[in-house]
Amino acid sequence: MKNLSILGSTGSIGVSTLEIVAAHPDRFKVIAMTAGRNLELFAEQIRTFSPKIAAIASTDDVPKLKAMCSGQKVEILGGMEGLIAAATATETEMLVAAIVGAAGLIPTAAAIKAGKDVALANKETLVTAGNIFMELVQQHNVKLYPVDSEHSAVFQSMEGHRKEDISRIILTASGGPFLNTPIQELASVTVRDALNHPNWSMGRKITIDSATMMNKGLEVIEARWLFNTPVDRIAVNIHPQSIIHSMVEYIDGCVMAQLGIPDMKAPIAYAMAYPERITTNIKALDLTELSALTFFKPDLEKFRCLALAYQAIQEQESLPAVMNAANEIAVEYFLDGKIGFMQIAQVIEETMHAHAGHDLKSIEEVLQADQWGRTKAREFCERIIKG
Ligand code: NAD
Ligand code: MG
Repeated sequence: MKNLSILGSTGSIGVSTLEIVAAHPDRFKVIAMTAGRNLELFAEQIRTFSPKIAAIASTDDVPKLKAMCSGQKVEILGGMEGLIAAATATETEMLVAAIVGAAGLIPTAAAIKAGKDVALANKETLVTAGNIFMELVQQHNVKLYPVDSEHSAVFQSMEGHRKEDISRIILTASGGPFLNTPIQELASVTVRDALNHPNWSMGRKITIDSATMMNKGLEVIEARWLFNTPVDRIAVNIHPQSIIHSMVEYIDGCVMAQLGIPDMKAPIAYAMAYPERITTNIKALDLTELSALTFFKPDLEKFRCLALAYQAIQEQESLPAVMNAANEIAVEYFLDGKIGFMQIAQVIEETMHAHAGHDLKSIEEVLQADQWGRTKAREFCERIIKG
């Protein structure tokens, strides 16, 4: 039996994680879970999974959640302290970090310091604080398993091989909903168009990140830290069918790939049960049903965010944190209908340009860079609104 804490249980990854728990009650138990704002779903999850601790993002929501869970034996907490308590609960062995954005930094770091293994979906933690995080993982001797499908594919393609024999990591990208949209038309696409991902069903923020391809940029940085590989050896191939989830190329010219129907339950289950494999309800892959698997290079002019991410990771440590913060703000403004699609990259670029990069020595310094990036990006967004 593996005891879990889940950060972000009401999200897309959180719900899939709970589906896996429900399908394998003999293997997993939920000790603690946390959520942002969806009180109804959270209360229902608390009733179904009976965690010992349930933490909600805002302390203002604690009384309401308590009322909704009256009669349940659960400790209800709120705010960052609640998230930390849930992530570090004594009985917990593994944290599933399925929260979105830089909000995952502090509770995930706390879990690592408390000796918990981590199944990491929340890529923003590695983007903003990769160096510090990987050091914490080593220092506290915990295991960090990737949940992101590409990184799970890379992790699986490295099993049984020597690290020093790797020549390249090749991340695949679907190209999102605008792969075939001419660049001139991107300025006028709507929020609805951008949320219409062809292959994956995900939370709103990551779905927009996929449309701009910032998601792939974040994943390049995530891979750089997870696999300790320089970015010039991390390539991105567009593969619209999302069947090959990523690949590892070795010095002898052999390439290992992991394939499957696109469904996040596969990488989540692999991270949760590693090194074992457990059953999922994912449809079996029948390659004869597919007409073709195609691959090509991304257009970095059209998908400017991907180029910005490569630039950020090659410069000073604070730049990816600032880039990530600017992206979170710009995506928020876009989702609120306040700025256009192409202005997401513009705001990120302006914010990065305004930043004087520096090293990051602690989580506190990461959070300062994050705050600086948010404030600056908001200024640029407001300037766009005012015209
Ligand atoms: P989502 O928006 O569906 O869910 C996010 C969860 O975090 C929700 O439970 C929400 O309530 C909670 N949350 C959000 N902000 C919070 C805050 N400030 N404090 C506390 N809780 C907060 O997102 P998702 O699609 O499940 O993605 C989660 C993470 O996993 C992201 O980092 C994303 O990049 C990554 N990821 C997602 C997918 C996917 O298929 N959805 C794939 C790979 C990686
Ligand atoms: Mg991914």
